[in-house]
Amino acid sequence: MQRRPGFPARLSGTGGPPPARGTALPGVPVTTSAGVGLDSAAVRERMVGKLAAGGITSAPVLQAMAAVERHRFVDSALVNQAYEDTSLPIGLAQTISKPSVVARMCELLLGAQAARERGLGRVLEIGTGCGYQAAVLSYLAREVYTIERLRGLHDKARHNLRPFRLANVHLLLGDGMLGYAKGAPYAAIISAAGGDVIPQEWCDQLAVGGRLVAPMSVAGGQQMLLVIDKTPQGLNQSVLEPVNFVPLKSGVA
Ligand code: SAH
Repeated sequence: MQRRPGFPARLSGTGGPPPARGTALPGVPVTTSAGVGLDSAAVRERMVGKLAAGGITSAPVLQAMAAVERHRFVDSALVNQAYEDTSLPIGLAQTISKPSVVARMCELLLGAQAARERGLGRVLEIGTGCGYQAAVLSYLAREVYTIERLRGLHDKARHNLRPFRLANVHLLLGDGMLGYAKGAPYAAIISAAGGDVIPQEWCDQLAVGGRLVAPMSVAGGQQMLLVIDKTPQGLNQSVLEPVNFVPLKSGVA
């Protein structure tokens, strides 16, 4: 008698188990939880559950948000708020962006045409702040150039990021309104600070197929999230939801 194949039929081949969530991402060390108790990973998983419920669907973004220990980027007095969906002060009148906004912007970057075809290449982040978003981006992009105009925060980000040993993150001190021409062209540019216009340099330094995601103030002063795609035919702009970022300022201080 012929044996019927079991169900599900086993496929021939060598498919190994799927990679475990939040671990073994290429080039990223596995970090241990500390600072908010042994269950900081569990607290992050809850945060990620809320991000998913709020509409974030990109698995790489959710994995990166689960992996990066946001509590290591805020002052010790704020650690117990680190996984709430809120922006928090990081000194010098600046703030770390809300997790939902970081996830949303990262998801938009991954939606760029070039990123969908070839993965996310070199990214320029304007406004390093405490370095949190740069750490998230390091999981999603091949190279991350991040520029900060305030020396105090540039130094703080260097200190915060050191234990993560993220070899693909490059911290720069400078005026991000000028972009960073030496790293151009970029597959994506992301700004954590908003002005009244998008600097021409950002559009110039974007690769064809690349995408810019940035807040910008529109008539009436309301800030909106803007997406600009650079196509062979020119720039395509979309205005998305209202947002609330710190101001984009010129010069280094
Ligand atoms: N991504 C950051 C958010 C920091 S808030 C984080 O994860 O913490 C935005 C930052 O943009 C501030 O630190 C502010 O100093 C910086 N910024 C504003 N204008 C800038 C400019 N022209 N160039 C570089 N950084 C700028």
